[in-house]
Amino acid sequence: MAQYDVVIIGSGLGGLESAYILSKEGYKVCVLEKNRQLGGSLQIFVRDKAIFDTGIHYIGGLDEGQNLNQCFKYFKIMDKLNLHRMDNDGFDRITFDDDETEYKHAQGYDNFVDQLSIQFPGERENLINYAKQIQEICDYFPLYKLRGDEAPIIGTKYLDINAKDFIATITPNKRLQSVLAGSNPLYAGDGSKTPLYVHALVINTYIESSYKCVNGGAQIEKHLTKNIKELGGEIRNYAEVTRIVEKDGLITHVELKNGEHVEGKHFISNIHPSTTMTLLESDKIKKAYRNRLQGLENSVSAFIVDIVLKPNTFKFLNYNLYHYKYNNVWDSIHVEGDAWPDGYCVFVPKSSRSDIYADSMTILSYMKYDEVKKWEDSYATIPHFRESRGEDYEAFKIERAEKLIAKVMERVPELRGCIQSYTSSSPLSYRDYIGAKDGGLYGIAKNYQDPLRTFISPKTKIPNLLFTGQNLNMHGVLGVTVGAIRTCGEFIGQNYLLHQINNS
Ligand SMILES: Cc1cc2nc3c(=O)[nH]c(=O)nc-3n(C[C@H](O)[C@H](O)[C@H](O)COP(=O)(O)OP(=O)(O)OC[C@H]3O[C@@H](n4cnc5c(N)ncnc54)[C@H](O)[C@@H]3O)c2cc1C
Repeated sequence: MAQYDVVIIGSGLGGLESAYILSKEGYKVCVLEKNRQLGGSLQIFVRDKAIFDTGIHYIGGLDEGQNLNQCFKYFKIMDKLNLHRMDNDGFDRITFDDDETEYKHAQGYDNFVDQLSIQFPGERENLINYAKQIQEICDYFPLYKLRGDEAPIIGTKYLDINAKDFIATITPNKRLQSVLAGSNPLYAGDGSKTPLYVHALVINTYIESSYKCVNGGAQIEKHLTKNIKELGGEIRNYAEVTRIVEKDGLITHVELKNGEHVEGKHFISNIHPSTTMTLLESDKIKKAYRNRLQGLENSVSAFIVDIVLKPNTFKFLNYNLYHYKYNNVWDSIHVEGDAWPDGYCVFVPKSSRSDIYADSMTILSYMKYDEVKKWEDSYATIPHFRESRGEDYEAFKIERAEKLIAKVMERVPELRGCIQSYTSSSPLSYRDYIGAKDGGLYGIAKNYQDPLRTFISPKTKIPNLLFTGQNLNMHGVLGVTVGAIRTCGEFIGQNYLLHQINNS
């Protein structure tokens, strides 16, 4: 039986990045993935020849000199990615039922201020102040600047400030407040919980620069996988870990669904920390620690409609739309039942087939897990992922999809007549496909009232078991990459790793 230096459970972005870093440093690494497709939320899927992303609609920080660009150079993927720069003067556009205007978030801080000052003429000074403060807040998170030799995040003064309250201090103009927070589905923003630092770190990366992946985000997984294999790493699909086995205070091996044992010296879990705990039988993990992880709230889930467009009918949108029924953009997350949908996001993938027309469109609206809870005992069949949860579930999905499409058509009437077909996914789809707990979009939800509780250390109580992935630091391509730096820093030293990255 092969013994690896490091066994990684899950091939999400965090698992693959950790595998690359450690393989490059000479560790013998094996990644175990339960699904056929690698990449977790990086995966794409194809319907009627149109490509859809699972969880990468756009990426920030990829311009020369920016943090993710530097990391991707280290991973040797930056020059291989097929990227499309989004609209410089309005990559995200925020709209409301009662207002014809498309409010624009522009790339580059000066441009961001300039564009919104055109739409809110009396607010330039407030916008300058907002831009300055967002950048100052990000400066307090050195890892996001790829700096390691400074104070750790813990103790940072911005952890316990509420994002919604902060934005209200920027301007008394309620519409501008909503516009500044309008892309909050990027971090499942909840007005009563979301910390300011989450808003700042997420919005900052996209203001720096915003790109779509041409033909989808799976190219990140493809290139990373190739590079890991070239470094001698192994990656196995159809390898679901069902047990993590501890003996004398250390993990000895993991057991796969087919009964096989995979031994290792170190183990990294790229899956949800509380799911990891359910796979691990060990009295070394105190009940209080397990309870703490189990008790953490997960971010809200979503209902998603993926539309295949008739060829050459719908013009490609080089921006995303975030639409709200009402001005309070922080309330959208709580809406359910007949009042749903309160808002939605529209993402139009960039296909290599045409620069003028789009092949497909994804519409996303928050959905609480409770809305589909009655079907939670049904599981989608993997590997040939098919949802068969009964006729009433199918009827529910059709009803919600039609409602969502109708709502989008109020704002985007040209969509009418362009739809060739569509599929939809619910919180249960995300639960079964990615293993996301309760279908949560971004893992553990952050809360400004108890910020340290939602910070997960890469280290567990078992010295050779670590965590990585979106639950560690933050979600998103950048958040997960910073998480992988923290996890692998435990092996090779964080400052050494940052030095390697900064010199790539
Ligand atoms: C709808 C949606 C839209 C998003 N949009 C964006 C965006 O536009 N830009 C952006 O930057 N981020 C976006 N994100 C967030 C981003 O996709 C994620 O934060 C990130 O990809 C998560 O990476 P991860 O390393 O945590 O792994 P995950 O993607 O969570 O992958 C975990 C992997 O572990 C595997 N696994 C689970 N259990 C087991 C087991 N027992 N054994 C073996 N393998 C197992 C899963 O199959 C999966 O492959 C979006 C997310 C969602 C859901």
